[in-house]
Amino acid sequence: MNKKIWLASPHMGGSEQKYVKEAFDTNWIAPLGPNVDAFEKGLAKYNQIDHVAALSAGTAALHLALIMLGIEAGDEVIVSSFTFAASVNPIAYQGAIPILIDSEPDTWNMCPKQLETAILDRVSKGKKPKAIILVHLYGMPAKTDKIMTIASRYKIPVIEDAAEAMGSKFMGKPVGTFGLMGFYSFNGNKIITTSGGGALVSNDEWLISRSRFLATQARECAPHYEHEVIGYNYRMSNISAGIGRGQLEVIDDHIDRHREIFNYYKRELSIFKGITFQQEPNADYYSNYWLTCIQVNPEKCFGVTRDHIRIAMEGENIECRPLWKPMHLQPVHCDKPYYGDGVSDELFENGLCLPSGSNLSDEDLVCVVEVIKNILSKALRKQAKEIEELVAYDQ
Ligand SMILES: *Cc1c(COP(=O)(O)O)cnc(C)c1O
Repeated sequence: MNKKIWLASPHMGGSEQKYVKEAFDTNWIAPLGPNVDAFEKGLAKYNQIDHVAALSAGTAALHLALIMLGIEAGDEVIVSSFTFAASVNPIAYQGAIPILIDSEPDTWNMCPKQLETAILDRVSKGKKPKAIILVHLYGMPAKTDKIMTIASRYKIPVIEDAAEAMGSKFMGKPVGTFGLMGFYSFNGNKIITTSGGGALVSNDEWLISRSRFLATQARECAPHYEHEVIGYNYRMSNISAGIGRGQLEVIDDHIDRHREIFNYYKRELSIFKGITFQQEPNADYYSNYWLTCIQVNPEKCFGVTRDHIRIAMEGENIECRPLWKPMHLQPVHCDKPYYGDGVSDELFENGLCLPSGSNLSDEDLVCVVEVIKNILSKALRKQAKEIEELVAYDQ
C-alpha cells in the first residue's frame, strides 16, 4: 500500500513546543495564561482587528456570538446552506430557526439575490431575521460587499464564519472583519491548528470582553462565585494557545503552499474541460485555498463521475472527500425554510475536495494528479474505441 496522502493534516512549524514548554515550566496549565494573551494579540494583529477572544472551538465562538445578539427560541437566523454543520448547530442550541440560503456559482458562497429574497419573504411572513451567518467556504471569500450592503439595508447584524478562511481577504481586508463579529477555527485540519480551538473577533470591545466573561462560566466580580446569567466553559487553554503562537509564525508559509497546491492542480488538470475549480472570480478575492475543490462534469469527462475519481483515489490510499452536503439536504434540517435554485445541490453532486495540506510533498501532488489523469484517459480511450467500432460496423 502507498503511503497515505491526507486531505489536510496538522502541520507544525517548529516553535509550538517552545511555547508549550514555557507553559509547563511556569505551570500555566490552565484556560487563560500568557500564551492565551499573546495568541490573542497575535491574532488581532494578523487579522487587523481590535479585539479577539481565544476560545475552545469555532463552534463555541459562534454560539457566544448568537447569545450576545440575544438570539432566543423561535428567532430566525439566516445562514449559508452550503457549509459544514457547525455553522448551523449553534442556532439550534438556542432553539432558533435556521433560514438556509443557497450558493451563487462564482464563489460557491451565499447568493446575495437569494439572501434579499429571503429577508423580504421572512419580513412579509411577520418575522425579521435577527442575524446573518456568512460563511467563507474552503477559504474563498463570499461576495462580501454585496452581502454587507443588503445586511445594512435591512439592519441585520452579520457574523462571519471564517473558520476555514483565516488569511483570506476581500478587497485587501481580512475576512472575518467585515461583520459585527467574525470567528476562526483552529481545529486539527484547518489552515492553522491549536489541536482544537477557535477565536471570536470584533472591533467592538464590549462584545469581546462579554464573550470572555460568558466563556468562563459568567462569573461576576465578587470574592465568592456570583452568577447573574448562564455561563459556558468555552475558553482556550494556555497549552493550546502555545501551539497557536507557534502556528501564527508560519501561517503565511502555509497559505503560500496552499495557493501553490491549488495552482499546480489547476495547471495539471486544465486539459480536461469537464473539471472546473472553485477559484477567485477576480482580483478583489484572495483565498487561502484551504482546500482545492473541483467540479467533475461527467458529460464532459467521458462518463467519469466524482465518485469514480473518489473511489480510484481511495484505492491508492489518497484521502479525498465530497464537498459539504448542503444543510437543506440534511435529514436534520430538510424541514427548515430554504431559499435557492439548486446551485449547491449541483456543487455537492459533482464536487470533490483534493488533498491540500501545506505539508504535502510535490511527489504527493504528482500521485494525486496521476490518478485523475489515468482514470480520465482510460475513459477517453474506451469512448474512442466504441466510436471506432461503431464506425467499423457502419462500413
Ligand atoms: C470547522 C468549521 C467550524 C467549526 O469550528 P470548530 O473549531 O471545529 O468548532 C464552523 N464552520 C465551518 C465552515 C467550519 O469548517
